[in-house]
Amino acid sequence: MCLVDSSTTVDIDSGDFSPAEYYCIECKNKFKALGKKIRCPSCMSANVKKA
Ligand SMILES: [Zn+2]
Repeated sequence: MCLVDSSTTVDIDSGDFSPAEYYCIECKNKFKALGKKIRCPSCMSANVKKA
C-alpha cells in the first residue's frame, strides 16, 4: 500500500459521478445535474433543490 498525503490528493468518491435529480424552485423544472454549482437548464436560475 502506498500512503498518499490526503491534503494534496483529491478524494474521488465514485458516488459523486452519478447525476442527481434536482428541481428548480423558480420554474419547477426537473432535471438531472452533476456538480456543486447547479443551475436550472431552463431558466438558468441557481435556485434549485435536490429532489
Ligand atoms: Zn428553472
